[in-house]
Amino acid sequence: MDLTHIEHIGIAVKNLNDSISYYENVLGLKCYAIEEVKEQKVKTAFFHIGQTKIELLESTAPEGPIGKFIEKKGEGLHHIAFAVTNIENALQETEAKGITLIDKKPRKGAEGLDIAFLHPKATYGVLTEFCEKK
Ligand code: ZN
Repeated sequence: MDLTHIEHIGIAVKNLNDSISYYENVLGLKCYAIEEVKEQKVKTAFFHIGQTKIELLESTAPEGPIGKFIEKKGEGLHHIAFAVTNIENALQETEAKGITLIDKKPRKGAEGLDIAFLHPKATYGVLTEFCEKK
């Protein structure tokens, strides 16, 4: 397992534009990309903060993962994403250690990264994402 840094922190929001203006006008960060990830039914907005990013996630459909999350838990911290050097190895090793995976194989996430999620029930309540920049 080779986690190098926190790639990003994912935050579920109801309204992307309102939340972008908070991050820009109050916290002074700059949104550098807005991207829709159709398969995930989300629109994302990204901010750099040091080596890490903040990813805001707005649902584009109530039945999507972020739509369901907000309905159940409200807005807030959604997931933490670790950068790994080899995502296939990281998944294999995690599963071998008895952790339930949501994604057995990596898929394409925002910014062209290969991503995969571990199940929050197996990770002490934190939805955990691995990301590899190819
Ligand atoms: Zn993410």
